[in-house]
Amino acid sequence: MHELGIISSVVKTVENIMRQEGLTQVQTIVLQVGELSGVVPHFVEECYPAAVYETFMENTELKMEIIPGIVRCKDCGEEFSGVRYNLKCPKCGSEHLDALSGREFIIKEIIAC
Ligand SMILES: [Zn+2]
Repeated sequence: MHELGIISSVVKTVENIMRQEGLTQVQTIVLQVGELSGVVPHFVEECYPAAVYETFMENTELKMEIIPGIVRCKDCGEEFSGVRYNLKCPKCGSEHLDALSGREFIIKEIIAC
């Protein structure tokens, strides 16, 4: 499970931002997680309490926005949900795909107390 490492780096990033902004407490962080980012939201939720334990984010609420993973078939131009069709074009069966959205893993918002 690499989500623990991912959240640890989120905590570090938030810490740096907080220092720059002169903030000490974070009420909520909002993450944007793309369906094709390789990050599993369910695991993020599971790992979060352990990752923030005894850090300044221990009481910070985690919110996630899931970005649908839309892909376009390079062979026939069909656009579809990559996760739903298992990264295979439902029209022509091609696996040559361009990701249009859903690769993002972003700290969208940090809400200070
Ligand atoms: Zn196709």
